[in-house]
Amino acid sequence: MKVELLGYTPEPDFITGMAALLTHSELEPHLLKKMDKKQVKNILDNVIKMGHTSVVEHSLFTFSISDVSRALTHQLVRHRIASYSQQSQRYVKLTNPQYTTPPSITQNIDIKKQYDKIIEELWTFYQNMQEKGIPLEDARYILPNATYSNIIVSMNARSLLNFFDLRCCLYAQWEIRKLAYKMLKLVTEVAPIIFSCAGPSCKTKNICPMDKKTCKWYPK
Ligand SMILES: Cc1cc2nc3c(=O)[nH]c(=O)nc-3n(C[C@H](O)[C@H](O)[C@H](O)COP(=O)(O)OP(=O)(O)OC[C@H]3O[C@@H](n4cnc5c(N)ncnc54)[C@H](O)[C@@H]3O)c2cc1C
Repeated sequence: MKVELLGYTPEPDFITGMAALLTHSELEPHLLKKMDKKQVKNILDNVIKMGHTSVVEHSLFTFSISDVSRALTHQLVRHRIASYSQQSQRYVKLTNPQYTTPPSITQNIDIKKQYDKIIEELWTFYQNMQEKGIPLEDARYILPNATYSNIIVSMNARSLLNFFDLRCCLYAQWEIRKLAYKMLKLVTEVAPIIFSCAGPSCKTKNICPMDKKTCKWYPK
């Protein structure tokens, strides 16, 4: 899995802090530019705690995500408050079998052998179909959920907070959880204030919306 932060709103903490301060200030927007880091932190901590997170929508982050399964991208695109561009299986001929193997399968030598064999066979059939004149857009129906995909996603900070809440949770699937933690690390480096309290509800709010009492992260 490769994840890169391609771009983001300049000074995301400051821009959103300014938006938050503006809502409670008599000053004109240009005067708010003089506020210091401490003020930004105070106001953002407050609005986020109160759930007034619309102000963080002013910061947008764009990621390039590659070598992830189609199973993952299918889960990812369920997050509707975002923009996506995904590699097309209708137009791009996938030449080599490139696919994700879940750790539970890697750990089981016999199952892993069968898994690799079946995927290789599916790929051979995918290529045979194309040689026999089946269009790429139809031949791809045989490709498994494990097939690698590349996708670019842009999400604002509010949507990312929701994404991290849901997908950093231990109950989320391992692959999208791995992605969520990689994305969280990248955005925390550039917007440490906005994302200081990002993550699953058990860590940020001490509650488990799923009430999974058997989970090792279940709040004490
Ligand atoms: C552990 C886990 C298991 C899951 N299992 C399943 C499953 O079995 N089957 C399944 O179908 N999905 C499943 N999902 C997907 C889940 O139901 C959501 O579709 C996905 O997590 C996106 O969340 P979201 O709607 O909050 O995000 P977004 O689509 O980004 O929406 C963000 C927020 O905007 C608001 N919003 C967006 N669209 C609307 C709208 N049309 N109307 C009103 N408010 C809106 C909501 O407040 C929403 O929380 C699962 C998710 C997780 C994390």
